[in-house]
Amino acid sequence: MIVLLFFGALTGYFLSQIVLYFPDFPFSSRFHTCPTCSFRLPLFHFCLIVGRLLTKHACPSCHHHLPWFLTGLEIGFALLAYGYLEHILSFPVVLLLGLGFVLSLYDSAHQEYPLLIWVIGTLFLIPITGITPFSLLLLAFGILAFIFPIPIGSGDFLYLASLALVFSFQDMLLLIQFASLSGILYCLMKRKTNETIAFVPFLWAGLILITFLSL
Ligand SMILES: [Zn+2]
Repeated sequence: MIVLLFFGALTGYFLSQIVLYFPDFPFSSRFHTCPTCSFRLPLFHFCLIVGRLLTKHACPSCHHHLPWFLTGLEIGFALLAYGYLEHILSFPVVLLLGLGFVLSLYDSAHQEYPLLIWVIGTLFLIPITGITPFSLLLLAFGILAFIFPIPIGSGDFLYLASLALVFSFQDMLLLIQFASLSGILYCLMKRKTNETIAFVPFLWAGLILITFLSL
């Protein structure tokens, strides 16, 4: 079990570095440096979970706090590995939750959709789940949204297409309704009714909801 938890946390760490140093490849010269002052961070900062908790997420040079998602991704992926190991979550659901976490961070932090990460995640899913007509329809909507700008981003449709590989039409309707409602509530609370919001995090929250409901 410890090996799988370590592997989960390590996967989270690797993905957090990709998100943090976006759009550079993680093995660029900025890798392992403070995003604010470019100070090269000591190696113990990168000891999984423990290192960041001991250093309180702070850069020793400028004392700028590193983003919370560094540890969040490590803990999140370790929990996903635990859920899979204990047969609480199936591999496709683990993959979708992990993919949704990373895409949500990209969408929130950079308002970007890393197509390569979506393609890799979905290619892992297809041999297990097969392709469903509903996922193909959502994929077509995603391509159309890319060509013709509409209020919903193409990335949202692409993530929905991945979700439709695993979940039934009824589950998808529940997920979309929950995501839309929470998105509207967020806009009303933040008074951002005229601004574009990142919608993938709300789809991801909907995925967490239907995953819990199906346990
Ligand atoms: Zn710094």
